[in-house]
Amino acid sequence: MTKTNTKPEKQNFNTDVSRLLDIVANALYTNHDVFLRELISNAADACDRLRYDAIQKLELSEDNPNFRIHIYKNSDARTLTITDNGVGMSKTELADQLGTIAKSGTAKLMEKMKAKGGEGDDPLKLIGQFGVGFYASYMVAGDVTVISRKAGSKSVWAWESDGRTGFTVRKPTNDEESALDGDRGTAIILNIKDEGAEFLLDEKIKQTVQQYSDHVDVKIFLNKPEETDSGEGAPINDASAIWARSKNEITKDEYTAFYKHITHGFDEPILTSHWRAEGKFEYNALLFIPTMRPWDLYDPSRKSAVRLYVRRVFISDSLDGLMYPWLRFVRGVIDSQDLPLNISRESLQYNPLIAKSVRA
Ligand code: ADP
Repeated sequence: MTKTNTKPEKQNFNTDVSRLLDIVANALYTNHDVFLRELISNAADACDRLRYDAIQKLELSEDNPNFRIHIYKNSDARTLTITDNGVGMSKTELADQLGTIAKSGTAKLMEKMKAKGGEGDDPLKLIGQFGVGFYASYMVAGDVTVISRKAGSKSVWAWESDGRTGFTVRKPTNDEESALDGDRGTAIILNIKDEGAEFLLDEKIKQTVQQYSDHVDVKIFLNKPEETDSGEGAPINDASAIWARSKNEITKDEYTAFYKHITHGFDEPILTSHWRAEGKFEYNALLFIPTMRPWDLYDPSRKSAVRLYVRRVFISDSLDGLMYPWLRFVRGVIDSQDLPLNISRESLQYNPLIAKSVRA
């Protein structure tokens, strides 16, 4: 292994992250499968974000245009690697997004937990509504290294941490860099500890992916990217947009799995509504009403979290105007056939079609 550079920059986690990691370490979930669902969600989001950016800047994805995720193990080294060829992270983004709590919802939640000092809502129940995102990795891994190259950039960086006090951002070794899928995106390398040993079995990974991530709209493979390029292995998930399928073909379990994928939650939807609007405005809608009351339901600044797609391209999950404010607890997907794709998210927000078609 050749080190290409030195001078790692050790940084401390911000206090909210330390607290969250403590909760993870103290067995927030008995169900370890959750970590894979979280990492796959992040990888799929990264692909969605690049798919959108590449509409304006084709060169960002044209040399490696098929978005995909690979999950593979090295039994001798006891590592599990998850790669995506999505948007990737710069050096600053690695430090900011994996060293502090990026989600504003979670940040607010941590505030609330601090303020309450234990009375009132059970913090574990509250936090269960979010999932702990990337940090769930530490349920099964002792040490995690994230290798990333932002689309359009030449530099690759490595973020590494044992999930205790802090993290290091440094240049990756040649071996680490070769874990990336082509020349962009992210590879998450988990050093699996005893608690996670079952995830070094292909069957376990396959079954977990099929249970939680079958309908993630990106193909997931159980081998290395170069093996897929040479024709080995079929995707292990269905990778179809569930909302575009006919509802007679979809089981309740599939709807619930998709609900959990988009909400990162643990509850089940109390109501699922799936329809296709045809005629003047065409769109598919798959909307859910959660069982669990969102902790910030009464916060007037809470935005609707319904995900807007335009012809299968993810646009945003925080567009004002997509839902009436009083429906801000509704989750799900709206995929429009009519909205323009080549304008910014901001101008889309004010497009009269949003109000006319989707809210009608
Ligand atoms: P969340 O995904 O809910 O925002 P996470 O803790 O899982 O929270 O991730 C924090 C942030 O790190 C994400 O919002 C995203 O910006 C970034 N991130 C995580 N994984 C990836 C990835 N595979 N590719 C690109 N960015 C990522």
